[in-house]
Amino acid sequence: MGYDYLIVGCGFAGAVSARCLADRGRKVLIMERRSHIGGNSYDFYNSFDILVHKYGPHYFRTNDKDVWQFLSGFTEWRYCQYVIKSCVDGQLFDFPVNLNTINQFYGTRFSSMEAKEFIEKLRVKIDRPRNSKEQVISIIGENIYNAFFKNYTIKQWGVDPSNLDASVTARIPVRFNKDPRYFESIYQAMPKEGYSKLFENMLDHPDISLMLNTDYHKDKDGINYTKLIYTGCIDEYFDFQFGKLPYRSLRFEFENYEQEYYQEYSQINYPNEYDFTRVVEIKHVTGQKISKTTIVREYPESEGEPYYPIPMMKNEQLYLKYKNEADKLRDTYFIGRLAQYKYLNMDQVVKESIDLINKLE
Ligand code: FAD
Ligand code: UDP
Repeated sequence: MGYDYLIVGCGFAGAVSARCLADRGRKVLIMERRSHIGGNSYDFYNSFDILVHKYGPHYFRTNDKDVWQFLSGFTEWRYCQYVIKSCVDGQLFDFPVNLNTINQFYGTRFSSMEAKEFIEKLRVKIDRPRNSKEQVISIIGENIYNAFFKNYTIKQWGVDPSNLDASVTARIPVRFNKDPRYFESIYQAMPKEGYSKLFENMLDHPDISLMLNTDYHKDKDGINYTKLIYTGCIDEYFDFQFGKLPYRSLRFEFENYEQEYYQEYSQINYPNEYDFTRVVEIKHVTGQKISKTTIVREYPESEGEPYYPIPMMKNEQLYLKYKNEADKLRDTYFIGRLAQYKYLNMDQVVKESIDLINKLE
């Protein structure tokens, strides 16, 4: 049987593309090399009956109404606001940095206006920050940079913040009010029955076929299709002909506890101590009511599953060589975090996938 499209990968990029195509009457086959759908957003009930995120906490948020409405076709939501703390010198601070963080850190009782004036004197005046260090010190100064950002970033990325694109730390806002939320997006919610259920519903269409445990590079022979949407690593597609693109990986260490909660917040960051960056107890945001709990510690690693493209000039240049080859191919499209080598959030990937299919069909 022939397919209009072969889609490689069943994360948001692959699954959203598949559904949009199927809704337009196209026959689609998805190949996924893992044993499950959902890509890095996959969640499951562990042996303790806790719904956990296998590949790190996935906090859904977006400002894009189209993305929100599209996904709402496949899930109900549990509205929540994500609150995260950073542990510095044994104390928990609001993070992202806000007025409370500044007052607690400096032992002051500034109003918003006073804090702005104070920080204005401390911040390093750099008009166009060229890297993550400059990005942070130009907004908040060296002290808070050293306490909250420097070592976390070294742990997470394996390089000094002065070697990382400014966009990495620019993900984190600085606020002069007391807003404790991680994000300010209009829509912030978790899929009510989890991400995997959302994916199941999205893929539930007679014109979508799915092959799990199937690697495109090994198993594509004999599959008859007209167009290809590829959401795996772009360097792997081209057999690493220009060299390997670096990715940052993580090791997740889960621990189960016979108590209702382990910590007060869904996430606590540890910038300066330990080899892990953060401890996540996802129950706080999934809202699961159960007397036991599971936490996960995240240990950044240089080898392993490719989770994060590393935003640095030399990597971007290498990526552009691959992109140049990709642009020459007919009927082959590269989309998603790995295929576009971009640090994209779920909603951005959903948006790009919807847009791609609108363009193609
Ligand atoms: P993926 O989810 O990586 O899916 C790609 C799929 O392709 C994978 O399942 C892979 O197995 C498959 N594949 C690759 N190569 C092949 C092949 N050759 N053959 C067959 N299959 C193949 N985003 C947010 O919005 N909020 C968050 O809080 C958030 N937290 C995150 C935390 C962590 C630790 C990580 C790593 C990411 C986080 N993200 C978050 C980002 C989010 O995971 C991505 O935006 C999203 O997963 C991208 O979807 P994707 O389809 O592009 O890639
Ligand atoms: N960051 C930091 N300290 C923190 C949290 C984040 O220095 O306590 C920096 C770090 O470089 C990180 C980046 O900000 O990689 C983006 O943080 P985010 O929480 O968005 O990371 P993600 O959840 O994508 O891993």
